Amino acid sequence: AKVIYMAKKFVGEPKPSDFQLKEEPLPDLKDGEILVEAEWMSVDPYMRAYMDRYPAGTKMIGGQVGKVLQSKHKDYKVGDYVMGYLGWSSRSVVHVDSTKGDMTKGDVEKVRHPDMPLSYALGALGMPGATAYFGLLELCQPKEGETVVVNGAAGAVGMLVGQIAKVKGCKVIGFAGSDAKVEWLKKTLGFDHAYNYKTCNIANALKESAPNGVDCYFDNVGGEFSSIVLTKMNLFGRIAVCGAIASYNADMANPPMAPVIQGPMVFKQLKMEGFVVSRWRQRFPEAYDQMYQWIKEGKLKVQEHLYEGFENMPHALIGMLRGENTGKAVVKVTGS
Ligand code: NDP
Repeated sequence: AKVIYMAKKFVGEPKPSDFQLKEEPLPDLKDGEILVEAEWMSVDPYMRAYMDRYPAGTKMIGGQVGKVLQSKHKDYKVGDYVMGYLGWSSRSVVHVDSTKGDMTKGDVEKVRHPDMPLSYALGALGMPGATAYFGLLELCQPKEGETVVVNGAAGAVGMLVGQIAKVKGCKVIGFAGSDAKVEWLKKTLGFDHAYNYKTCNIANALKESAPNGVDCYFDNVGGEFSSIVLTKMNLFGRIAVCGAIASYNADMANPPMAPVIQGPMVFKQLKMEGFVVSRWRQRFPEAYDQMYQWIKEGKLKVQEHLYEGFENMPHALIGMLRGENTGKAVVKVTGS
């Protein structure tokens, strides 16, 4: 199997030289185990943030969709497709029952909708889909006619948040990092307004697009951007704090401080809640099934940004963190 390690601790942006690829033998299969060969690998922002907790030499964490090549488990047969948190390995031996329900221990589950492209199990029909679904619907509780703001809007989670908000009858305002992404959000995904946060004045953009204020804010980015949005929130507005990608490459020994947010929090009586999607782990099938239905009905469009080759995983992670991707960044494993 090919396995990729974080050879050096990341300082700022990860660099190609921080990673190391090794060839490793696999153990023989024991009872209760399956051998999985990766076909699609995911690169996600949490990898940058979570790897800070581990020492150099740790195997890279992450999800993948793979095919069962051998099985000594009664519920899995050769040819089944699974989604698993198996890290950056091209092949893995997994003891299924010891990992059940624990994403940190290499949890695997069968791909629930194998009639869709398999890579969707890493995006709209997987963890990012559940993040958009539960984060928006449970924490923001958007109502018809309300105004929803989402940043990181052209990414895996953001593109789904905006489209779900449209399904719920909201006005959707998205922010993303290039003019091409902004055009795509408006023309293809039907966002009501979209802006390039790198070139626009965020306060003016919100004044123009949300003259009656913002009811729901789905925050993927954090930092100063969020402080500005907070000043535009309506009374009893709801904020789902999903991510903080603006600071994932920061030096966490000296973290950047956002400008004061307590003023609007108090006087607008806002509700701001952070979440990790695994909170709704037991309900993931509900999200997958609803997203599947919306995709079938044409209410949800799915876009992927493809990288090719297992050895290109570092390049894909670095590229995604820099904003190369429109839609979900995935790596097609070839010739592993
Ligand atoms: P994306 O597909 O959105 O990819 C990351 C995007 O972030 C890039 O494409 C880039 O787009 C944008 N970005 C990078 N740097 C910055 C910056 N400094 N300021 C603003 N935008 C930036 O990734 P995901 O959809 O997978 O993740 C989006 C967010 O959701 C992340 O913060 C992630 O950690 C979080 N998340 C949280 C989960 C949870 O359980 N709470 C679960 C899953 C994701 P652009 O061109 O627009 O800059």
